[in-house]
Amino acid sequence: MRMMIIGPQGAGKGTQATRLTAELGIPHVSTGDLFRANITDGTELGTLAKSYMDAGQLVPDEVTQRMVADRLSQPDAAKGFLLDGFPRNTQQADWLSGELAHHHTPIHRVILLTAPDDVLIERMLDRGRADDTVEAIRRRLDIFHAETLPLVEYYGEKVVKIDGYGTVDEVHDRIIKALGLNGSESPGNAARTDG
Ligand code: AMP
Repeated sequence: MRMMIIGPQGAGKGTQATRLTAELGIPHVSTGDLFRANITDGTELGTLAKSYMDAGQLVPDEVTQRMVADRLSQPDAAKGFLLDGFPRNTQQADWLSGELAHHHTPIHRVILLTAPDDVLIERMLDRGRADDTVEAIRRRLDIFHAETLPLVEYYGEKVVKIDGYGTVDEVHDRIIKALGLNGSESPGNAARTDG
């Protein structure tokens, strides 16, 4: 199953994506995590990305797309994947549509995870990440509304809207139900982890 999860920062995307992909045995492809790994490893890409991330801005599309193409071309992504944090705007979505069409592997589902603003802000401040300054938080929320939310219309009927307010378990159950994956069973061989 090829999916993506979108939602504002603090909605719980990372937590839910980690759990869901572990259960389905598909890779969790988080562009934020990939950038952070590059920063930790001191790569050229990491140095470039850091300047944008610290300012709460998006890393240029071309740079991000090259990184995503590289990740999705790895063998473990052949059985499906969950994109988290990508695409962030319709240009990236257009690029992704082209990539996936080329390989005849369209996105099946888009999980839209939402929560009230006060919950989002509280969770974000708790998280205490280096790029979670008040200014950066505000800028990222603005970017989400202006650039990322239009993806809901872009993906139309593929979108399943999930209320992200509640415990991790409650939200996870909502996702499972909405995807029609009730119980521990998943379609096809998606539960295999040995690729
Ligand atoms: P995240 O962990 O998803 O909140 O991402 C952290 C930061 O990485 C963002 O604030 C951006 O600077 C950068 N980033 C992550 N995903 C993307 C993307 N799809 N396009 C551009 N920049 C991104």
